[in-house]
Amino acid sequence: MPVIQFSKLVIASHNAGKVREIRELLKPYAAEVVSASDAGVPEPEETGDTFAANAILKAEAVAAATGLPALADDSGLCVTALQGEPGIYSARWAGTDKNFNVAMQRVWDEVTVTDSTDYCAAFVCALALKIPGQIVQVFEGRITGQLTWPIRGQHGFGYDPMFIPDGYPLTFGEMLPADKHAISHRARAFASLIDALRG
Ligand code: IMP
Repeated sequence: MPVIQFSKLVIASHNAGKVREIRELLKPYAAEVVSASDAGVPEPEETGDTFAANAILKAEAVAAATGLPALADDSGLCVTALQGEPGIYSARWAGTDKNFNVAMQRVWDEVTVTDSTDYCAAFVCALALKIPGQIVQVFEGRITGQLTWPIRGQHGFGYDPMFIPDGYPLTFGEMLPADKHAISHRARAFASLIDALRG
């Protein structure tokens, strides 16, 4: 039995890919995990200008609406040649129909149009945990890598098929989910959260 156990926790997200990954990470720590969609809570507008600020506003909104502990993730792909973009706008680059083939093509076009040969990028994740009655806590994780084109792999979600984590031959899209979970920005943020909760 792990040291921390939530009887019920809400993942403050409507993003199926994120919910799937966070649900997996939470397995040992929460008896019942529901998403914001399951709980019928709409996603608030992301008005923050950092990953942490957006994660906090999502966790606080869901905890206030449900009265339950809420865990929010704000994350994205930061590309060095694009001065950190799309960053907090990673989801928005996919448009209202959430087409990540379009978003990945835009990233590649914007990098190559600069004649840059710098393909460095990082995935960044801020997790915010709001337990009702307590101060919200934020934890960050990142993983560096290289962009590649054409895209490769069917696993994961979002920009995974164009990102090769440093030290690995495969894109996140080609890795098995368990291999991505062992090293990802989200897993690293989650490890800090668990450490902090253990005290
Ligand atoms: P938001 O945090 O809801 O604003 O959305 C973050 C966006 O960043 C997602 O929709 C994905 O496009 C991208 N993203 C975040 N984490 C990952 C990941 O692990 N793999 C691929 N794309 C990701």
